[in-house]
Amino acid sequence: MAQKWDKLSTSCIICGAPYGKYGEFRLVAQQPRGFTIGEPGKPRIAGKGIPSAEAELEDGTVLHAWGELSEPEILEKLVEAVLNREHPWFCMKCGHRVCSECGAPLEQPPGSDIIGDDFQTCHVPIFPIPYKCTNPSCPHSK
Ligand SMILES: [Zn+2]
Ligand SMILES: [Zn+2]
Repeated sequence: MAQKWDKLSTSCIICGAPYGKYGEFRLVAQQPRGFTIGEPGKPRIAGKGIPSAEAELEDGTVLHAWGELSEPEILEKLVEAVLNREHPWFCMKCGHRVCSECGAPLEQPPGSDIIGDDFQTCHVPIFPIPYKCTNPSCPHSK
């Protein structure tokens, strides 16, 4: 059941940061936090010990959220965005993909599903190499 989208949300569903504040990537799912929309009764299983919640949508599909996104006020915002045909996402900061040294976003968000301008999601794998910081004056950018 394909969801129809008019646009991507303009800001992070968790912290409200506008797009671009923490890098160019929009995150939708990681092991510790995220959301999916699917058939009832087939939720993506959140990892052990990770809180999760579901909300039924008007078309009979179910929004399944886990981690911080399952908190009632964020779940409510997720549902509201989806009903407005806006695709929600969360930022690199909320996805813990910022530099440990300076707080700038990393070049890539490893271990995350991201969504592009075309509403296509793709997965950024975890590579066994250090991730570079996007702040040119930070030692981690070298
Ligand atoms: Zn955020
Ligand atoms: Zn840095």
